[in-house]
Amino acid sequence: MQGLRIGIGYDSHRFTEGRKLILGGIEIPFSKGLLGHSDGDCLSHAIIDSLLGAAGMPNIGQLFPDTDSQWKDAKSTELLKYVVNELNKKGFRLLWIDSVIIAEEPRLNPYIPAMKKALSEAGIPEEIINIKPKTNEGMGFTGRKEGIAVIATSLVQPQKE
Ligand code: MG
Repeated sequence: MQGLRIGIGYDSHRFTEGRKLILGGIEIPFSKGLLGHSDGDCLSHAIIDSLLGAAGMPNIGQLFPDTDSQWKDAKSTELLKYVVNELNKKGFRLLWIDSVIIAEEPRLNPYIPAMKKALSEAGIPEEIINIKPKTNEGMGFTGRKEGIAVIATSLVQPQKE
C-alpha cells in the first residue's frame, strides 16, 4: 500500500555576537546571529531533519557531520537542496511542510515571504511551505533570548516501494 509518511524535525542554535542571522535561507537584520558549524540556519536544519525522518533516513548530523570540513560554513539551503534531491531520487513526492519558529526576538513575520522564496530555490515549492513564528512568552532559553528553536514537519508520498 502506498501510504503517506510524516517526519518531524527539531533544531536550536544559540545567539552569538558577530555573525549574520540567517533563517530560511535569508539574512535577517538583527544585532546577533546563530552559532553553528554551518550558517546556523535552524529553520532549514529542522526542515531537513523532518524530510529525512519522513524518508526514513539518518539525521542531519549523520549526513553532514560537523567533523567534515566540507560542510564548514555551509549554506544550509544548499544542504536542503541536497536532501530534497535525495528524496526525489528515492521517489518521494513532497506534499506539505509546516514549521514553528520559536524566537522571542527579532519579529519574523515580515520575512516569511522571502524565506519561502529562498526555500523554494532549494526545491520545495513555496505553496507547500508554512512558517509560523511565535515567542515562548518569556519562558525557557528562547524566552531568555539565548537562541532560536524550530520544529518542522514534512508530509511525503512514496511513489514507489
Ligand atoms: Mg542545526
